[in-house]
Amino acid sequence: MTALLCVPVLVESPEHVEDHLHDVGVAAELGATAVEWRVDPLADPSNPLAASAGVQAVARLLADAPLPTILTCRGADEGGAAEIDDEDRADFLERLADRADAPRPTWIDVEHAAWVRSDRLRAVVSRFLAPRDADERSSRLILSAHDFGGRPGDLWQRIEAMSAIEACAVVKIAWTARSLRDTAEIAEVLAHRSKPTIALGMGPFGTPSRVLAARLGGMLTFATLGDGRSTAPGQPTIAALVRTLRFRSIGRATRVYGVIGMPIEHSRGPQLHNAGFEAIGFDGTYLPLPVDEGWESFKATLATWLDEPRLGFAGASVTIPHKEHLLRFVAESGGRVEPAAARCGAANTLVVDEDGGLVADNTDAPAIVDSVRAAGVDPVGCRVLVLGAGGAARAAAAGLAAAGARVRILARTPARAQSIAEGLDGAAGDGDVLAMDVKVVEADASPTAEGIDLVFNATPVGMATGEDPGGDPLPATVELGARHTVFDSVYAPLETPLVARARSARARVITGDAMFIGQAARQFEAWTGRALPDAAIAALHGTG
Ligand code: NAP
Repeated sequence: MTALLCVPVLVESPEHVEDHLHDVGVAAELGATAVEWRVDPLADPSNPLAASAGVQAVARLLADAPLPTILTCRGADEGGAAEIDDEDRADFLERLADRADAPRPTWIDVEHAAWVRSDRLRAVVSRFLAPRDADERSSRLILSAHDFGGRPGDLWQRIEAMSAIEACAVVKIAWTARSLRDTAEIAEVLAHRSKPTIALGMGPFGTPSRVLAARLGGMLTFATLGDGRSTAPGQPTIAALVRTLRFRSIGRATRVYGVIGMPIEHSRGPQLHNAGFEAIGFDGTYLPLPVDEGWESFKATLATWLDEPRLGFAGASVTIPHKEHLLRFVAESGGRVEPAAARCGAANTLVVDEDGGLVADNTDAPAIVDSVRAAGVDPVGCRVLVLGAGGAARAAAAGLAAAGARVRILARTPARAQSIAEGLDGAAGDGDVLAMDVKVVEADASPTAEGIDLVFNATPVGMATGEDPGGDPLPATVELGARHTVFDSVYAPLETPLVARARSARARVITGDAMFIGQAARQFEAWTGRALPDAAIAALHGTG
């Protein structure tokens, strides 16, 4: 069974009732199946407009909501939006309970601590839990506990205490996740529930627990309409949840993939892979999986996710700053490291096979070679100038040299170029290539077009979000012409200053999307056994 998808709406003034009802109609069309009316500001007695018209506004919101409703009224001490105390809330809810024209909300949410602390609040809320007449459906009580500081030390005791209260129909627990490891504990909480339970991580590290609610057995997740309208950190938008992340298709057997890195929000992997899963009817979802930099964070997170079968973790794309960590992790765990990954000293693909065995691969290098061949260029004997000496440069040098190219690396930090060359030069290549040929271009040498057939940009120069979006990393001494090929790995934007220069020189151009799609297609095939469908590429280009 899928989880409810609830859109939270903070009602700041009675004047906004029509707008809110309209928004919830939009949310329902997008896929929301419940609405939470967060009415904290209307219960504030110092707000004159709210005091006179607040209760009437809520009556209308409950009567005309197109979806099942949660009514919530929190004080600032509980993460709410108004400085109100238990008496203010009890007063407000009592006036609402008295109104004959106010239908009962489907659920009423009260913080567990307030329920225990305030006799009056308990008495007032209990009125919502009993039907006024035989035809009316009474509300069900959600008892909740939030911790904005992190995982509560008494997590399990709190859950037990809420579950033990007879009036409690639903237990809700939410805390600020400090890392993706919290998702594993949320899975455990949901697996051991004795009542319907909502368990969510707040903040960026909590988002997977929100997306995977249905897989983990959660009753409900929250998602916003966007535009800063979230009521807790880390809530995804409904559109992202339903359209991109396949929320409606996620069930107890869904395989979970993702892109591990930091930062990760701008990755286009979720659009591509999820559209591919959708097109071939594969029961999977692909999420952004942020992991703090450093080997220890990576190792601890990956180990936790692999050890928790309830998460259904089946593989990942891995990007900056963790590609070398993935290689090390799989090697140290006794998994299989594919030759392309060993050659690059870095892996971008993790496959978790049916019996838990791990495979690390590097699909960047073969994707670069495939893209070059697809453009009609034979790598054998091709004289390549690689610009930059980071991960993409290493993948380009390793892939193209193994395929028979003569690679020269030009980098602003020659020592990094030297380390790439030392690792590859003279090592065995693929097929007929007996030894790879990879050398460093001296920093003070001015390269000319003579000895170059193909330029590969592996620096972020030209990237819209980088430090030098208007820059061109190729020295002016290289006069491009029609016999050259320019491969720019930057893919946002596709038309970089270097690409423009190549086009005006009538050089052959390979844009960064070729590499991005190529490496992703190989990952998709490794996970699903199927080719990446065209629909996935269309989704990436926004034409799907
Ligand atoms: P990386 O490991 O950080 O390496 C970046 C390299 O570029 C480093 O050698 C760095 O020099 C150099 N560099 C940075 N700014 C420079 C500048 N202003 N002038 C000259 N050199 C500069 O990053 P990466 O993983 O290799 O990625 C590099 C770029 O490749 C990315 O920005 C992205 O656009 C592209 N990429 C594309 C794909 C794809 O699928 N199309 C995949 C991966 C990467 P230092 O060593 O001196 O810092």
